[in-house]
Amino acid sequence: MKNNFSGIIANDELCSYFANAIESSTLSHAYILLGAKGTGKHTLARLVAAALSCESRDNETTPLPCLECNNCNKIMNCISPDVMYISREEDKATLGVDAIRFIKEDVAFFPNDSSFKVYIIEDAHTMTAQAQNAFLLTLEEPPEYAIFILLCEHTESILETIKSRAPILRMKMPKRDEAMGFLKSNYPSARTFISNSPEEFEQIYMASGGSIGRILELIGSSEKKQILQNRELAQKLIESIAHNRLSSDFAEICTMFSQKRDEREKIVAQFSEIQRAARDLITIKKSDEPNLIFFTDFQYAEELSYGISVKKLMEISESTERARLALLRNANVKLTVTNYLSELI
Ligand SMILES: [Zn+2]
Repeated sequence: MKNNFSGIIANDELCSYFANAIESSTLSHAYILLGAKGTGKHTLARLVAAALSCESRDNETTPLPCLECNNCNKIMNCISPDVMYISREEDKATLGVDAIRFIKEDVAFFPNDSSFKVYIIEDAHTMTAQAQNAFLLTLEEPPEYAIFILLCEHTESILETIKSRAPILRMKMPKRDEAMGFLKSNYPSARTFISNSPEEFEQIYMASGGSIGRILELIGSSEKKQILQNRELAQKLIESIAHNRLSSDFAEICTMFSQKRDEREKIVAQFSEIQRAARDLITIKKSDEPNLIFFTDFQYAEELSYGISVKKLMEISESTERARLALLRNANVKLTVTNYLSELI
């Protein structure tokens, strides 16, 4: 079946898979959509929900979703009562049992507009074990109309019992050239930017996780400068550790942090960028087919990874996450940064 999963690039196979499963009514009750931030997990989940509930579903010549009918419009604008977004509270690191309790109660009610109810569980990799066990009860005997789409950045924390009921589908990030080609042929402003600043484009491409929407947003915004600075500092820190010269680079790194003037949001974003850099080196060391989300040059990243153990990388990653969460919980910014850097040295 032809599908109309527009806005998703580099994932044709996945789109066809869903289109065929919808056409043949062989959709599973649950899926894990696995992919880095910005690879289009939300968009795809929404498009699947729209294709399921599209009013043109019985019209064999219309590729689904039509994106024009009332159901499609409501779903794509996130106002459909039949598509629920389950997310963790802003200041929480995990998705707890309360969210699952809500699903359990809500799923008992029939859909409003169509024959399906779709639950999109955001950051499902942060679900606590208790929440997952509670969810399992719903997953074991779901009502006919219920579909659960779990959006995950990794699946290490997902229980085997959940995985066995929810096939894992991997989102691919458009390759740099794919993204570049798409942007050049569809957006004149992006075309100009790419030819004038090819190196900056590479940085933005990585920072956006391959998300076309995010790349476009960044190209014309003042946020771009901040992101380039965050990437520079994250790379500098990881390089210093890998080359065993953090002590001599310490003053420079402190100065780079101080340029953020202790602004909480900026430092939180900085910590996320450091996590992405550390994650890349862990992936290089552990995976046969590493998919990088920070480094633009694979060979360079691989060389860096030789100078630093997985254990050390995990420690960096954990310290960074602790510091990031502390800031989200309103800890003193200056003190958190000072403690964080002294932990690394
Ligand atoms: Zn429609």
